[in-house]
Amino acid sequence: MDTNTLKQFLFQLPLQSRYKFDKEVRQQIRKALFLAVSHEGKYLNWLFPNGKLDNIDSMINKVESEYEWLFANYYKLNLKRRDAKYDTHNHHAFHANSPCARIFRKGEPIYRCLTCGFDDTCALCSHCYHPEYHEGHKVHITICQRENGGVCDCGDPEAWVKEYFCPYAVEDDESLPIRDSQMPQDLENSFIKTIEVLLDYVIDVMSQSDAQFEDPEEASQSQVELKTINGSLNPTKYGLNINMNDINNDEYYLIVYNDQIRQYRDAVQRIHLASKKVKNFAVMITEKVQNYGMAKVISSRDINLLLERQKILSATGLASCIRSHRDVFREDMCDEILNWIYDLTESEMFKTNNRVKNLFCRAFCGKWNNGLLVSSIKSYQYKVGSLDPSLKIPKINCFKKASNHWYFHPSKWNLPDEICQECDYNLTESDYDISSSHLGSRLQYFIYLDVRFWKSIRILLHDLYSTSLITNLYYKNIVSCQYVDIYPTIADMFLTMDREPELNIMCTLSTQLFTCPSNSTSIVQHGDISRIFASIYGFLTVEEIRSPEEIEITHEISMKSLKNRRWGQIFFDIGYILSRSRDSKSILTSNIIPMACDILALFQGRPVMKREKKNHVEYESPDYTAFFHAISVIYQFGEYIAHCLCNLCDDELKKSLSKNAINYVIGFLLKLENNDYPGLMDDSVDVNLSSEKSISKEPIGGNIIQHFRIDEEKVSFLHPIHSFLSWLIELSEFQSPSDLVDALESSSKSKICHGQQIEIDLANPLTCIFDYPIRTIVLMSQIKSGFWVRNGFSVRSQLQLYRSTGLRESGYMRDLFLTQVFINSNSPNLVCYLLFSRWLLMDGWINEVSISTTTTTTTTTPLVYDSKTLPYMLEECMNFFIHSLTEDLYLRGLKDEVVNRLRIKHEIIHNLCFGPMNYTKMCSQIPDHITSEKRFDIILTEMTDFVPPKGASDIGVYHLKEEYLDEINPYYFNYTTNTKDDAIKFVKDRIRKRIRKPYSEIVIEPKLRSPQELGNFRYIGNFSASTYFSDFLIKTLQYIKAEEIEADSLLETALHLIHICAFENTVDMQQYGSFYDRFVNVSDVHKTSVAVLLYDFLNNDIFKNHHSKIRYILKVFEDKYQTLNKILNEQIDSFDIIKVNLNTNECEDENDYEKKKRIAQERQAKLMAKFKKRQSSFLKNNHFEPNGSDIEMEDYEEENGWRFPEAHCLLCQNAADESPFGIMTYITKSSEFRTIPFDDKYWFVKSFSDGPNLDDGEDSTTSTDIKSDKWKSYMHKVKESNVIGPGFSHQDHVDSKLVSVSCGHGMHFSCYMNFVNSRSNSIQITRNTPENIEHKEFICPLCKAINNSFIPIIWNRNNRSLQNFLQLTPLNTLETLNPKIVHDIQWYNRFEQCYKEDVEKLSILSSVEKDTIFSNLDARGNNEINTRQQNFKSLLSNMFQILSCLTFPQIFKPDATFILVNTVKSLEISLRGIPIKEQLVINQISNKSLINLRTLSEFRNSSILMKVNNWLQVPNPGSDVYSKSLAKLFSLSTIQMNTSILESDFLDTLVSILPTPSAGFSFNTILNGCLVGHIIQSFHIICKEIIAHDYYKSADFSIVDIPILQETIDPTVAKSLRIMFRKFKIIYDTNDEDNSNIINDERFILVLYSMIIKATTPFLRRAAIYSFVQCANYDGLQLSYPNINLEADRLSQFLNVKLVSEYLDQFTSQDKSYESNVFSGFLLYLRSGKSNIEPLSIKRMEYPGIIKLTELPDRLDFFFTKYYYSDKYNNPHMSIEDPAVCLFCGEVVDIQKSAIGCNEGQCTTHYLKECANNVGIFLLPKDRSLLLLHKNGGSFYNAPFLDQHGELPGGEPKKPKTLYLMKPRYDEFMRNVWLQHNVPNVIVRNLESVMDMGGWDTL
Ligand SMILES: [Zn+2]
Ligand SMILES: [Zn+2]
Ligand SMILES: [Zn+2]
Ligand SMILES: [Zn+2]
Ligand SMILES: [Zn+2]
Ligand SMILES: [Zn+2]
Repeated sequence: MDTNTLKQFLFQLPLQSRYKFDKEVRQQIRKALFLAVSHEGKYLNWLFPNGKLDNIDSMINKVESEYEWLFANYYKLNLKRRDAKYDTHNHHAFHANSPCARIFRKGEPIYRCLTCGFDDTCALCSHCYHPEYHEGHKVHITICQRENGGVCDCGDPEAWVKEYFCPYAVEDDESLPIRDSQMPQDLENSFIKTIEVLLDYVIDVMSQSDAQFEDPEEASQSQVELKTINGSLNPTKYGLNINMNDINNDEYYLIVYNDQIRQYRDAVQRIHLASKKVKNFAVMITEKVQNYGMAKVISSRDINLLLERQKILSATGLASCIRSHRDVFREDMCDEILNWIYDLTESEMFKTNNRVKNLFCRAFCGKWNNGLLVSSIKSYQYKVGSLDPSLKIPKINCFKKASNHWYFHPSKWNLPDEICQECDYNLTESDYDISSSHLGSRLQYFIYLDVRFWKSIRILLHDLYSTSLITNLYYKNIVSCQYVDIYPTIADMFLTMDREPELNIMCTLSTQLFTCPSNSTSIVQHGDISRIFASIYGFLTVEEIRSPEEIEITHEISMKSLKNRRWGQIFFDIGYILSRSRDSKSILTSNIIPMACDILALFQGRPVMKREKKNHVEYESPDYTAFFHAISVIYQFGEYIAHCLCNLCDDELKKSLSKNAINYVIGFLLKLENNDYPGLMDDSVDVNLSSEKSISKEPIGGNIIQHFRIDEEKVSFLHPIHSFLSWLIELSEFQSPSDLVDALESSSKSKICHGQQIEIDLANPLTCIFDYPIRTIVLMSQIKSGFWVRNGFSVRSQLQLYRSTGLRESGYMRDLFLTQVFINSNSPNLVCYLLFSRWLLMDGWINEVSISTTTTTTTTTPLVYDSKTLPYMLEECMNFFIHSLTEDLYLRGLKDEVVNRLRIKHEIIHNLCFGPMNYTKMCSQIPDHITSEKRFDIILTEMTDFVPPKGASDIGVYHLKEEYLDEINPYYFNYTTNTKDDAIKFVKDRIRKRIRKPYSEIVIEPKLRSPQELGNFRYIGNFSASTYFSDFLIKTLQYIKAEEIEADSLLETALHLIHICAFENTVDMQQYGSFYDRFVNVSDVHKTSVAVLLYDFLNNDIFKNHHSKIRYILKVFEDKYQTLNKILNEQIDSFDIIKVNLNTNECEDENDYEKKKRIAQERQAKLMAKFKKRQSSFLKNNHFEPNGSDIEMEDYEEENGWRFPEAHCLLCQNAADESPFGIMTYITKSSEFRTIPFDDKYWFVKSFSDGPNLDDGEDSTTSTDIKSDKWKSYMHKVKESNVIGPGFSHQDHVDSKLVSVSCGHGMHFSCYMNFVNSRSNSIQITRNTPENIEHKEFICPLCKAINNSFIPIIWNRNNRSLQNFLQLTPLNTLETLNPKIVHDIQWYNRFEQCYKEDVEKLSILSSVEKDTIFSNLDARGNNEINTRQQNFKSLLSNMFQILSCLTFPQIFKPDATFILVNTVKSLEISLRGIPIKEQLVINQISNKSLINLRTLSEFRNSSILMKVNNWLQVPNPGSDVYSKSLAKLFSLSTIQMNTSILESDFLDTLVSILPTPSAGFSFNTILNGCLVGHIIQSFHIICKEIIAHDYYKSADFSIVDIPILQETIDPTVAKSLRIMFRKFKIIYDTNDEDNSNIINDERFILVLYSMIIKATTPFLRRAAIYSFVQCANYDGLQLSYPNINLEADRLSQFLNVKLVSEYLDQFTSQDKSYESNVFSGFLLYLRSGKSNIEPLSIKRMEYPGIIKLTELPDRLDFFFTKYYYSDKYNNPHMSIEDPAVCLFCGEVVDIQKSAIGCNEGQCTTHYLKECANNVGIFLLPKDRSLLLLHKNGGSFYNAPFLDQHGELPGGEPKKPKTLYLMKPRYDEFMRNVWLQHNVPNVIVRNLESVMDMGGWDTL
């Protein structure tokens, strides 16, 4: 098929397919495309390189039949050929000679090496990042949170400043045949032609598809018909005869589109109404709209009917349109075509061949070839989103000529000619003509038409652009140019019409194109910044996109536009361009700064506020939030422009450019000040617009300042132009302070600014400008001090945003900086006069206080601050001075990166100094903009010692390194008053520890910066040389003196301020004099000096704590000038020099007494700390996850035996009641019971690999197992090749068994009945409940555990002696037991008698209950039973009713033991792997488990008692018991043992026989029998399976690699084992020779021994648990075995049975013993061939190792990189949208999708139907949590992963972190939640806590 045929095909397909689009049509399309692109099949082997057929026809056949013309099928088939588990090679990761461009998908790690990267945005994917090449680098990892999170920059030369090695950037060794092959010319031709035709076709179709954006109210039939006519293709352009009509079948569809605003439910409703079809149809359509992006609602010939329905459909704003069948068919074709193109770009040919990539780009960048029959030529007016009538891409209207700095001069882009020719682009300037539309390239059309595509295609296209166009090194510049050329129209669509703004193309294109420096540079040079600026300026001012020439400058801003959050994107774009551009000079010299000022001005001085003096504000306008949300991008915008100064290397150039810039900005500000700017309105800006400005004159220097009262006039927090100015000044790096002054002075004087004459009619222009930052700081302090309280909350939130959040650096810090600049470059008197005026502390304020002493001044100024506010304001004001002197981070001319680093460092020090903290808590104290810095974590790591979590509920904490503690500055600007006090105390404490002086003598000395470091800003202390300042100090000190102790902290601050000033290191003393002069100068007004006042304080003991500080201050002056004491002596009458000396008697060294006291105190503190530590570790050990917690009961064990829970009824709180008391239990199926799947090599090995002792900790180093190298390498390989798991997926090896769980809480039976009944009544109506009422489930009112049965507690304490119970019985009665005995009536009667007596003896039934149960025995048949008895009877019947329900089909009998047996087993399983040193498993049982088990067991005992006493009304209950018991005993006799070994569970046998020692059957005898049976049974299974499986001899692993216990064993045991194995081998293996060699292998015997020990240990553990359940009194028993290593041996000793090795020896011994008889009997039985029993009833071997859920990866993102997005597993992400991993079997399902044919989701279906587990436990990697499911409920649970800070992944989605597996957490979850059957309880408790609403958040 050549391109002409392809065109014809595209034209004719709708008609040929009768407008029916289906699967066949899709395949037909693909076939056509493949044939076209491969030159009629000639080069199909390029596309399917593994197809490996040379013949064209057979290749076509293969592609048709095997692949169905789909790449996906081809890959699938390829995958089948290799084993994904072991083939780790990932071909798609290779990217030789081109950028990697792999898209980051949700959940994947993004690596950023800040050392190698050009900037913070340069990222590497997990393939390209190799830690060894970035050692010592600053690497930052985040987890991608979006479906398309950008692409990997590996291989992009512009992204890296340092070389690193990527193994995938080189050639793939398994080089494919097509790699680097020269592309044949005819393939090249067909490739590019095909792509061009297809792109043209898609544009043809989509250019007509804009009806969805039209108002349905205005739609009409003729319009629809016209659209159809316009959509007709031109037959000649499609290679057909001109007469060929592109006809429609006259049918039309009503189509509905997706959007991101409207509700799903609303859409269903609308579609339902419009379609008039069933609800399910509407749901289906809505689903499709949501996933695909659009859907057909109905079809009809009647356009008017469709129009009517469309009105219904769109009533709530849903987008819709009516299109002809032909055109809809064509859109469906586009869908298939674009999907095919996308697949093509992912194919191996594309990935490996750069020529193909380039051709592909060329097709996109070339001009569109219009294939439509365009008819009408109408006049055109620009309209957003619509092409002009000739289908050209329109430009934003432009009719005017430029009149100011808003202009754009069209010119050609600076692109290589070759590319321009190739693409027919950028050849003439006319394309850029600002007033006419132009014919765009295909790419431009695709970008322009993007909003018209349906959701799924938009996503697909954006991915395609990312991977294949933007990242193409050769074409990326032209791509960028083409995008920028149509940027304003694209921005217009994004801002005003896109229904899916999150999917907008700008989000993909801008970031990637504009972060590329060469693109940004050319954009700046081409002048397009103007067009972008104009777009946003127009939008913000007149709510429409404008061209630069059309801009009207104004200060008015549209609130409507401001609140549209989308425009932030445009500023991001601008930011990228400005910050990445390498042409800084152009930015600084072009019209950019003037335009930028206009933009900044929109936010300058707004929102305005005024202080409320009398009334509270009634209504607070929320408008300010719009400004505050917007302002951070605006600030950043300014900062980026100013930052261009940094990139200028030429100092002279820099000087002149920065001077110009500062000039312009100051001029601009002055124009504003002068009311010389359009659109200024008095109530929307904080500038005083009146032409008459009142001024005041500073008395000393005669300086003039504006009169201004912050408490009376307009103020505002935001001044972006000032911030901009501050950056310009900071980054200008003037040579000297005078340079700086010059620059400032000259700008305020120059009347010419950028060619424009400005009239400045202001008294002191510069001061006017610096007035604003000062006002803002004062405003801030006033609000903090509560002076603005009547203005309501909004002022406080503004303050908060301005000072403490992300705005801090651009707001408050900038204002502080400008104030410092002002102080630094002006006369101290002017500065102080202005400052104190603004602070309203100039004069007057002190009078009230000192009125009695001084009477000199009689000012009429009323007091501004009331007595409550004044101290706060004083404190604030002094803090301001301190901060002006000490916050010098921006004054030091440091490099950007250093500033950044120091800023982070300071925050960490000042927040972490008080003690270790976890990450989240620390971050909550530090502003977000600091913690979100990419370097934050890196710096934190450097500065701290991290203590990772160890236990299951620990979290990690950070400790600040000691060395940083010295850097704490208690006067840190970001401290609150309280933290400041804490910090002062903290610093003093530290000093005290070092110098051992009393607290009162500790002085914090200021940290001084040398003036050299401050450079230009070395005069920030100038203010201290002003009389205004010393007067202020005098007034303050006088105030403090009067207030005495009330003003203690004020004095602290004042003294610190004076102390800093005393060093005089930042004062220009030559020009302005010294602070010392002011310090000692006696004020005319106040008749005192600062020095004198300080001396006064020394005389006052109230201020004793400050005396040292004062002496330090005085000493500074005395040391420097040596005149202070003299002066003081003159000024003070009774001056005493001793008082000012540092070494007064107050300061003598610590005396002995104090020293002792201190040491004692320190010791005390140490002890307390120790105690606290112990206490907290105790709490920690007893702390459970809140979700999984269970209320542990106190220890009930006492001397008089173990007590059952006391009769405290939870419901009636009444101890005594007629009704029986009992506890609640939950009988449920549980599936931790596994048997060994011998057919699965891995699980077979694994089951014998957990170490011989189940009470050793897992993985503990104490494990004595000896592991071979082969074993290690095998296990390693399995772990490597399985990201998750392997799961235990053998359903037939999982048993779900009924177990009992109990919370141990109790109630009366009658209360229970009432409770259950009332609950079922009340609940059913209100909500769907977690408990299942039908199954009699209910929730414990105390602990919210789910329960379903009630078991009575009718016993005294259990004080049975375990010692007696376990006593060794030498005589083995089983040996002689044979059927003849039963017929001996005497023997039988004696047995009955003994049995009955033993049962009576065993009973611990309480006397009350005994009476209840047995008192009516005599009166049987008599109906006179009392209530208590009645109650008991109904209890039993109720109980059996419920239990029989649960155990169905098994019949529950009162003496049945299976629940007891299962519960013992499950308890034993749950205790595996919990270490306990030298003791026994019975020491590990919790009291709760004991209550549960002992209740079950005692109930069984009592049931038998009732039976032998014939109380239960069943026929012949007694003899039933005896015969059953006998039958069980017989199964252990030598005669019947054979079948038992094949079928029985010996634990079941052990538990089911109640020991009757008097009859000769002690527990010991029974246990011995069962143990013999169990060992032979296990050995038999092991041998049989070994013999049956030959894979154990396979190369990488064989049977002898199973871990062994020890290197040698007793030779007799070895001999016996060998004999036993040989005997079985003779039976099962008749011909194979190889195994015989194994017998002689020493190691094999050791393996056999190890296996048998491991198989027997669980049995012994269970037997021990059972015996302990029966007998609670273990007096006289040894519970600790320090010298026995093997758990099995310890247990044997405890249980008084032989060691396993002794049994093994016995089996083949020549002496006739019970053991040898049983063994030889069994062999005989096997050989006799009678052993053909039902395979199903053959007992299988239980899994002897630790039973766990699926293994999880060490890092959660491995799931994504190594599995989910891996082509090794055929890209699971393509089929599974939201993965859920079943932790039981390892299967991955999709929670979003419902299973085929079911309503439930795949998770529910999986655990209910597919998986063997009976509860659902899933890991949701995307949600980073677990999902628990049970019956009709479910809930989320914390996944056992912690971030690098050792914390659970919190709600901080902004900072997605790498998550690491926390094994103790997972283990605890498995034990406490899964193995202890708490999954339902966790769910119930979660549901109960969110109970008010129905159920939980459904998925
Ligand atoms: Zn990569
Ligand atoms: Zn790479
Ligand atoms: Zn690096
Ligand atoms: Zn009660
Ligand atoms: Zn409870
Ligand atoms: Zn499963």
